[in-house]
Amino acid sequence: VKETVQDLQEARRQLPVYMVRNRLLEEIKKNDTMILIGETGSGKTTQIPQLIHEQRLEGAGTIAVTQPRRVAAITIAMRVAAEMNTDIGSIVGYSVRFEDVTSPRTKVKYLTDGMLLREAILDPLLKKYSIIVLDEAHERTVSTDVLFGIVKLAQKERADKKLNPLKIIIMSATMDVDTFRKYFHNCPVIYLEGRTFPVTIYHSKMKQDDYQYAAVCTIFQLHATTPANHDFLVFLTGQEEIETVMYNIKQIAKEATGPPIRVCPLYAGLPAAKQLQVWREAPPGTRKIILATNIAEASVTIPRIKCVIDTGVVKERTWSGGTGAERLAVRAGSQAAGWQRAGRAGRTQPGAAYRLFTADDFRSRPLHQTPEILRCPLASTLLLLIAAGAEPSTFPLIDTPPPDSVKASLTLLKELGAIDSEVNPKLTVIGKKMSTFPIEPKYSKVLLSAPEYNCLDEMLSLIAVLSSENVFHTPMHKREEAIKVKQKFLSPLGDHITLLNVFKAFCKAPLKKQWCKENYLNHKNLTYACEVRQQLLAICHKLNLTVSSCGQAYDQVLKCLLCGLFTNCAWQRGGAAGGAGVAGRYVTAAGAAAALHPASALHAARPAPPVLLYTELLSTSRTYMLTVSAIQPQWLHQVAPEYARRCRANR
Ligand code: ADP
Ligand code: MG
Repeated sequence: VKETVQDLQEARRQLPVYMVRNRLLEEIKKNDTMILIGETGSGKTTQIPQLIHEQRLEGAGTIAVTQPRRVAAITIAMRVAAEMNTDIGSIVGYSVRFEDVTSPRTKVKYLTDGMLLREAILDPLLKKYSIIVLDEAHERTVSTDVLFGIVKLAQKERADKKLNPLKIIIMSATMDVDTFRKYFHNCPVIYLEGRTFPVTIYHSKMKQDDYQYAAVCTIFQLHATTPANHDFLVFLTGQEEIETVMYNIKQIAKEATGPPIRVCPLYAGLPAAKQLQVWREAPPGTRKIILATNIAEASVTIPRIKCVIDTGVVKERTWSGGTGAERLAVRAGSQAAGWQRAGRAGRTQPGAAYRLFTADDFRSRPLHQTPEILRCPLASTLLLLIAAGAEPSTFPLIDTPPPDSVKASLTLLKELGAIDSEVNPKLTVIGKKMSTFPIEPKYSKVLLSAPEYNCLDEMLSLIAVLSSENVFHTPMHKREEAIKVKQKFLSPLGDHITLLNVFKAFCKAPLKKQWCKENYLNHKNLTYACEVRQQLLAICHKLNLTVSSCGQAYDQVLKCLLCGLFTNCAWQRGGAAGGAGVAGRYVTAAGAAAALHPASALHAARPAPPVLLYTELLSTSRTYMLTVSAIQPQWLHQVAPEYARRCRANR
C-alpha cells in the first residue's frame, strides 16, 4: 500500500522533532553552530532539513546533510522527497559516489560525507551551501572527522571575507558531547527527547560461542512464534558471513513451519539496485528477513522491521602505518552501536531487539568505537585535504592520528608523485588528476600511468574488479568443484591476470547470471565491478586519457600495476635459492614476514616466484599477501628507480 500525502503529513506531525519545531527553529536562527542530540527516530534527519527549508532559512543557498553511508543518503532523500510531495532530484536530491541526483533547483541535498569532502576540493569554502548538517557525527568516519575541520575553517574564512555566512549543525543520537563542544568553540547543545516507538530489549541468558549459529536459531524460534508481517533485521559482520547464513536459512526454511520467507542481503559491496530491494515490501503473508552489516546500523528506516537480532559483533579494520599491514578482526561492538541497532526495530512501530550476548557483556563494552581516523590508512584522505588547500600538519582534527601513520601516508603520496614534498605539501599536476578519482591514490596512479603502457582498457577492468568484493564464489559444500572450475581462468602470471580473464569472460557471457552460477562466480560483485568501470571510464574521458588495449601483452599490465603498487613488493627469503615449498616465506619492503595466501593462483607455483607484487597485506594468525602476481625484479627499477634503490639499501 502506497502511503498518501496525507498519511505522510500525519506521520510527520507525530514525530518528536515536529512537536518542538518552533523552539528548534529559533535556536537554529540564533546560532551559527550548534550540536543537536536526539534519540534515534525522533526525526532529526528527515525533519530538520525540511523545517529549515519551509522557513527558507537557507536563503539563496542550499542545505547539505551528510550521511556516513550511501544507502542512507539515497533512501532518506527519497523519503523526504515523498514527504514534500516532489520528485527526487528536484528540490530534494542526493549525491553519492558514482551517482548525482540533484539539479540547480535542489535546496535540500543529502550526500555522503565522502562526497562533501570531494566537493571541498573544488571549493574549500563550500560557498554554495548556507547550512551544512553533519549527521551521525558519533560514527566518527574519517570523512566526517575531516569535514568537521573543513566546515569550521570555511565558516571562519567566510565570515572574515564577509562572504555569505555558513551555519553548521552537528547531529547525532548519542555522542561524547564535551569533546565536540570544545572543538566547536563551546557552541550550544540542544537535546531532543523521546523516541517514536518503544523497543523491548532481550539479552541472552548465557554466553553464545557461535553467534552465527545462535542467530539462525533465534531467527527460526521467532519465525515459528510471530505473525508473518513482522520483518526481521539481523546484524552480521560481512558479505561471506551473510551469504553463509542466507544459505542456511534457505535450507532450514524448506523444512520449517511458519510463513514463507524472503531473505535480503545488505552490505556495502552490493550493487545499489540490490541494496534498495531491502526497502521493497514482501508479498502479503511472506516474512522478510534482512541480513545486514553495520551499514544498516544507523540512520536508515526500513519499514515493518519488528525484530532486530543483534549478534553484537563488527568487523573492524586496523592498519599499521609501519608495515602497511591491515588487520581485519571481528570484535565486540560498542554500547552506542548496540543502541543504534536496537533502534532500527522501533522506527515505524513498537519492536523488540534480541541481543545474542548477555546483559553483563553489554555493560562491559566500550561506550563508543575507536574513531576510524586512528586506525585506517590516510593516503586518500590526506590527498583530498591537500587538494582542498589544507596543510595537514596544522589542520584541526578532533583526534590526532598516530604520527607514524600520517608519515607513512605522506611518504606514499610523495613516492606516487602526487605531492611535491612531505613538508608543507602541494599537489603536483598528477596529484591533482589523482584526486579526481574516487578511489585509493595507488589505484588512480595506475590508471593515469596506463596510457603509457597502452593498457588503460585492461587497467579500468582490473581496478574495477579490485574495488569490488571477491568475485569468486566458493560455497562450502561444493568447494572442490568450484576450485576445479576456477582453473580455466587461472593465469601462471598470478591473480591479477586471472581476475582480468574472469572479467573479460563475464563481459562476453550472454546469460550472465546463469554463466556465473556455472562458473562459481559472484554475479552481484561482477555487476558492481561493471558499474564502477563505467564511472572510472567517464572520469578518464574527462581527463582526455587514451583508452587502448595491449591485447595479450600482459607484461604491460603488470608493469603498469607496479606504477601504483610498487611499495607492495615482497622478496623470497634467502633469494631464489630458497627452493621449493617456500610459499610461506617472503619479506616485504617494510621488512614484514609475509606468506602467499592459499587462495592465490601462485600458491602452488614451483619454483615459487622470487619477487611478488601484492594488492593487500592482511594479518590474521599470520600476515598474508592477497591478490598477488609474479614480477620481474628489473621492472621495479624501471618503474620506480628511487624506491627500488632505497629498498635495496634497506635489505
Ligand atoms: P532520526 O534521524 O532522528 O533517527 P529520522 O528523521 O531518520 O529520525 O526518521 C524519523 C522517523 O520517520 C522514523 O522513525 C520513521 O518513523 C519515519 N521514517 C523515516 N524514513 C522512513 C521511511 N523510509 N519509511 C517509513 N517511515 C520512515
Ligand atoms: Mg538520523
